[in-house]
Amino acid sequence: ETEYVKLNNDSEMPIIGMGTWQSKPGETYQAVRWAIKLGYKHIDCAPIYGNQGEIGQAISDAIREGDIKRKELFVTSKLWNDAHAPEDVKPALEQTLKDLQLDYLDLFLMHWPVAQKKGIGIPQRAEDLIPLSDLPLEVTWAAMEKLQGEGSVESIGVSNFTANKLGDLIEKAEIVPAVNQIENHPLLQQNDLIDFCHKNNIEVTAYSPLGSQPHEGQESVLENPVIQEIAERIKATPAQVVLAWQMQRGVAVIPKSVHEAHLRENYASLAIELDEADMAKIATLDKNYRFISGDAFANGSYANLWDEAN
Ligand code: NAP
Repeated sequence: ETEYVKLNNDSEMPIIGMGTWQSKPGETYQAVRWAIKLGYKHIDCAPIYGNQGEIGQAISDAIREGDIKRKELFVTSKLWNDAHAPEDVKPALEQTLKDLQLDYLDLFLMHWPVAQKKGIGIPQRAEDLIPLSDLPLEVTWAAMEKLQGEGSVESIGVSNFTANKLGDLIEKAEIVPAVNQIENHPLLQQNDLIDFCHKNNIEVTAYSPLGSQPHEGQESVLENPVIQEIAERIKATPAQVVLAWQMQRGVAVIPKSVHEAHLRENYASLAIELDEADMAKIATLDKNYRFISGDAFANGSYANLWDEAN
C-alpha cells in the first residue's frame, strides 16, 4: 500500500521516494527500474545531478513495459540556480521535461534560495552569484507560479528555505509552496522549521534522510548507537528506523540508493512502527548537524544562507 501526504492543492505525494543525487551514469537506469518494480512511485530528480536522461529512459521503459502508469508516478525535479531569471525558468523546465521524457512534472522545486549567473553549475567564486537584491526569490517564484497555471507542473515548491525566507516569500506570493525539501535526519531535526511549514500548509520532504554519504571525519547517522540499539531490538535496520521515524512524524523521505537490496530495505520501512519511547529517544539526538553545508552558495553576499546567527 502506498502512503501519501496531501499537498495544499489536494495533490498527493507518496511519502517515500527514491533519491538520485550521486547516482552515477551507468547505474542510475537500473536503479530506477528496480525501484519501480519494488513499488516506489516517487522519484526525486534535479538537472544538476547530471542523470535525468537515464532516469527518463528508465521511466519511459517502465511505462512501456507495463510496470507502472504515468499517472501513478510522482516525479519531482528542480530549477537550478542559474535559471532564476524569469525568462529562463520555462526553458529550464522544458529541458528537464525533455531529459525525463515527460510532458509534465508532479512537483517543480526552486533548488536553492540562491541566484547564479547563467551557465554556472556549482559556484566557485563570489562573482558566480547574483545578489538576491538584483534577482529576488519572489520574482523567480512568480515565473514558477505561471508554469503551474499552464499545466506543465502539477505543484510547485522550494528547497533549502529557512522559515524566514519562506515567511517572506509567502507574503509576496500568490501560491503558497506545496513543499519545502530540506536536509533532515536525527542529527538535524529542524523542528521549528517543520512546525512553521505545517502551520502554513507546506509539506516537508527530508533529503539526506540516512545522513547522506558522510565524508572522512563526518558523523554517521546509521552508525549512531541509539539508532543501532533500536534497530537491533525491533529487528529492523538502522536505515529503516530513521526513515520510519520521519514518516511517523509526517515528513516525507527520499533515500538514495543504486543497490536493489538497499532500495528494498528502505521501501520496507513503510511497514515499521516505532513506539513512543523510541520516537522520544530519537528526538534527543538532534544537534543541528549538517552534512550539506551549502558553503558553495554562502560565498560573499550569501554569508547567512541558513539565517542563523554566526
Ligand atoms: P541519503 O539518502 O541520506 O543517503 C544515501 C547514502 O546511503 C548512499 O551512500 C547510499 O548508498 C546509502 N544507503 C542507501 N540505503 C542504505 C541502506 N539501507 N543501508 C545503508 N546505506 C544505505 O543521502 P542523499 O543522497 O544526500 O539524500 C537523498 C536524496 O535527497 C538525494 O539523492 C537527492 O535526491 C535529494 N537531495 C536534495 C538536496 C537539495 O538540495 N534539495 C540535497 C541533497 C540531497 P548506495 O547507493 O550504495 O545504497
